[in-house]
Amino acid sequence: MGSEVDIAENLAAVKARIAAAAQAAGRPAAAVSLVAVSKAHPAPRIGAALRAGHRIFGENRVQEAEAKWPDLKQAFAGTRLHLVGPLQRNKVRRAVSLFDVVETVDRPNLARSLAIEMEKSGCRPDCLIQVNTGEEPRKAGVLPAAADAFIASCRDEYGLPLKGLMCIPPINEEASLHFALLGEIAGRNGLEELSMGMSADYQKAVRFGATLVRVGTAIFGERQPFIAASG
Ligand SMILES: *Cc1c(COP(=O)(O)O)cnc(C)c1O
Repeated sequence: MGSEVDIAENLAAVKARIAAAAQAAGRPAAAVSLVAVSKAHPAPRIGAALRAGHRIFGENRVQEAEAKWPDLKQAFAGTRLHLVGPLQRNKVRRAVSLFDVVETVDRPNLARSLAIEMEKSGCRPDCLIQVNTGEEPRKAGVLPAAADAFIASCRDEYGLPLKGLMCIPPINEEASLHFALLGEIAGRNGLEELSMGMSADYQKAVRFGATLVRVGTAIFGERQPFIAASG
């Protein structure tokens, strides 16, 4: 795993598995978008995916994304960049100008900052709310019991362009339960986008209604720890 050819082949294989999982679930393959999570991978490797025609990517750190993406976005028209990691309020201004989707809205003061910076800049990235479906103390995300109220305030109080929900299930639990819970919360709130499923479980997520799957390792190979620790 690692060369330009490998990355193109990995992308094609992941897309084929998504299409097969969608078909098995009676869903159109086009209902599921692949977010290629390129965190910790350098621009040349990302370039391989872009040259293979892929256009939707995810990064988890604002600073790292700023170092890699402005040139790539310029060079490859139609690229859409998703923020999939936690967002600190002091980086909201930079985040709204670089990202096309913020998947990790998870608290009122962040929602308020996003609304203010969107108003000032005129940049309005789509927003997803991260739900901590496993109620893990150290994990970001609004708790399931608080989700309906937070969704309502993101829409009505902050006026965010809210499109859906995102979750990262606990590592040692059956992911299906978390995918089903996320779908239930989205359904009762009329939200269409469900971002769930990573390299280990994206096919399962597709069966549970994912519209966005976030896949890194299965496309780009193992991440380099020293890069992952910076930015
Ligand atoms: C890193 C990351 C992914 C991709 O994980 P893989 O297991 O490498 O596919 C997906 N979602 C989020 C939020 C991530 O941080």
